[in-house]
Amino acid sequence: MPTTDDQKRERLTRWSIVALIWLLSLPSLAFGLPDNLPGNFDGARAYEHVRHLVDLGSRPPASDGIHRAQAYIIAQLQSYGCQVEEHDFHGSTPLGDLAMKNIVVKIPGTSQGIVLYATHYDTVRIPNFVGADDGGSGVGTMLELARLFCARKNSLNVWIVFFDGEEAQGRWTDSASVNWTDTNSTFGSREMAASMALSGDLKRVKAMILADMIGPANLKIKRDTNSTPWLTDLIWATAAQLGYENVFVSEKFPITGDDHLSFIRRGVAGCDLIDFSIPYWHTPQDTLDKIDAQSLAVVGHVLAETLPRLEKKFR
Ligand SMILES: [Zn+2]
Repeated sequence: MPTTDDQKRERLTRWSIVALIWLLSLPSLAFGLPDNLPGNFDGARAYEHVRHLVDLGSRPPASDGIHRAQAYIIAQLQSYGCQVEEHDFHGSTPLGDLAMKNIVVKIPGTSQGIVLYATHYDTVRIPNFVGADDGGSGVGTMLELARLFCARKNSLNVWIVFFDGEEAQGRWTDSASVNWTDTNSTFGSREMAASMALSGDLKRVKAMILADMIGPANLKIKRDTNSTPWLTDLIWATAAQLGYENVFVSEKFPITGDDHLSFIRRGVAGCDLIDFSIPYWHTPQDTLDKIDAQSLAVVGHVLAETLPRLEKKFR
């Protein structure tokens, strides 16, 4: 019996639904998370952001590459319905005054307090460096976090910040020539902490959580001894409850220069999530193949689950 057009259409519809269900189930199988419905952190989406940033090439402050990265980050955030601010300033660097831009998402809460989630999006100024892990992994993760949080109503205000000018500025030739000082680096976070102190907003910040270099497979995040202990404990307890003790390990490690210190020095509780054990740090080998979507998913899951715990603490 020949099938009618209606029967064909019905069969097609049925098969499209089956295919759609199958497609939706894929990411959760790949990353072992409860599910990846719109309300949950999706490591595959975070990874795609890293891929896009790496494709843009080197992204040091005031370069064509960072201008393309700014356009990408802002367009992504706006597509999620986030309220985005561009904070333009000049960094006084050993290379002269450089135009820099912090990108700030503000998600209004129902109470006064603010939680800052932050990362840096510039890359170190050495030849052929594309920063998949250092400058890419944190951005991919924070963009995906913004997609979740901008669609929610939270009690605390959530600000998600993309810092410019974290890396040491100078005429470097390779990894060994990079000379980090407190005054040639962390321009974006120092600018933001200073302007928040002036406006009075800094006093409202309950916690500042930084993600920097969290992309490698077999990610191991050690407890930074210069981060605020209660905040580190809260994040590590969250990770343990989610079953990620193998990623958020109990070993200690001192981070002596990163964006969280710009806030900690002004009395704000801060914590840096970073894996400093990578052999490709500040080399042209910091490429996309070093990034594991599951590592981004684990950190993203912990960042997302940390918020309700902070809200409970500061109710
Ligand atoms: Zn770096």
